[in-house]
Amino acid sequence: MILASHLGRPKGKVNDALRLKPVADRLAQLLGHQVRMTGDALGPGVHDAVGKLRPGELILLENLRFHGDEEANDPKFAKALADLADLYVDDAFGSAHRAHASTEGITHFLPSVAGLLLEREVESLSRLLHKPAKPFHTVIGGAKISGKLEVLDALLARCQAILVGGGMANTFLAARGLPLGKSLVETEQLDNARRIVAEARRKRVRLMLPTDVVAAAQVHYRAQHQVVAIDEVPKDWVVVDIGPQTVAAYTEHLAKARTIFWNGPMGIFEIEPFAEGTNAMARFLAERSAAGVVTIVGGGDSVAAVDKLGLTDRMTHVSTGGGASLEFVEGKALPGVEALADREE
Ligand code: ADP
Ligand code: MG
Repeated sequence: MILASHLGRPKGKVNDALRLKPVADRLAQLLGHQVRMTGDALGPGVHDAVGKLRPGELILLENLRFHGDEEANDPKFAKALADLADLYVDDAFGSAHRAHASTEGITHFLPSVAGLLLEREVESLSRLLHKPAKPFHTVIGGAKISGKLEVLDALLARCQAILVGGGMANTFLAARGLPLGKSLVETEQLDNARRIVAEARRKRVRLMLPTDVVAAAQVHYRAQHQVVAIDEVPKDWVVVDIGPQTVAAYTEHLAKARTIFWNGPMGIFEIEPFAEGTNAMARFLAERSAAGVVTIVGGGDSVAAVDKLGLTDRMTHVSTGGGASLEFVEGKALPGVEALADREE
């Protein structure tokens, strides 16, 4: 069996810091089975090494993105990869929204099917697209509204409520004219925020914004900070989390939901004193899952927050695909999924 992956963004150049050796070592440890490595993703050496492989042996190709042809989806590169094998199993859901040589190109040259993880991702996330149990509520946060406009639009068409936190909420609050000190606000997105508010009203989707927040003198774990009403953010201070009143209002509203999708942390959760809103949300969702509610978490940082609390197994589904999970929820076709023979489920 030949394994292939990428790591980081080497941009088509060999980068020693991004070699897959540590990945091979960890995998060998997890499997209790030797994992060989090639010195390159492709080339004569790789052909020889793969040719010598005996049944039951595993070999991991070096970082695919050391070759620019991978991200360029070069057909020659894809064919050369395909020539190494008889069958292609794609388990890289996190890369499925990109048409690269190893996710899409290769499928033109080999019988290609979904791996177990990719299959579970598609099945689980599909629950948000096809007849989700209602009420279907979304909790959305993270740093910025830009980059999440499309997912917001898609969710407005499907959800009964959207609860906003994180830096994204600042832009919505600023659009109402509230002064937010030195908080992260995307001034060029104020019109988009107003448009989304109007769209929510038109579609009768409940759009909830924080009523209180944690404000800090600086973004630092020892900085002075306090809970303030949303119209009382001290000048020069920064909004770093949602406040307890907001957490209470959000969880009370979410208690009615039968499907909950969560993307984006509620605050700067990387800094412990500012993680309370995010942690409260993660714990609440875990409780709701136990009560039979479908809870789905997507997005790299939100997933990291849930993971940090050890709650991953308590959710209905925690997606391994950041951008891919958002594009899937937007209803977009993912090239890495569309290319597979068993996509029809
Ligand atoms: P995800 O990866 O889950 O989609 P994002 O990448 O959109 O989430 O956003 C995550 C980032 O948002 C985190 O690094 C977090 O610190 C930041 N963030 C959350 N709330 C705020 C805030 N109030 N001000 C600035 N950054 C914030
Ligand atoms: Mg992120």
